[in-house]
Amino acid sequence: MTDGQAELFPELPPLLDAVELARHRNAEAQRIYRAQPANAHKLAARHEVHRALAHGEISRPSACAACGDQCSPEAHHHDHSEPLAIEWLCRPCHMRRHRLRDVLPGQMSLPLGDRR
Ligand SMILES: [Zn+2]
Repeated sequence: MTDGQAELFPELPPLLDAVELARHRNAEAQRIYRAQPANAHKLAARHEVHRALAHGEISRPSACAACGDQCSPEAHHHDHSEPLAIEWLCRPCHMRRHRLRDVLPGQMSLPLGDRR
């Protein structure tokens, strides 16, 4: 928000900046995604990955299996019925693997830095 808006309309709440707006959109898209029964098996597979990581049963490598980029790669599932059959991919390779079809509205507007 510019100072001019605050001076002209002091009764209005402050406008969201672009990053904050993208966060809100992403959170809403995530909420809708998680509520859909058709996505339950994917969520269960991701939960199992997080559980296995937390218990030290598996470990996240420090590089992407596809491009070799040093990063904290994401777990890609070829088959969600095998939750620990994982290909570890950096965010760009993971999105390419899905051909962007699974990207939620607003998701790509967020900075990728906090994933690493
Ligand atoms: Zn990669």
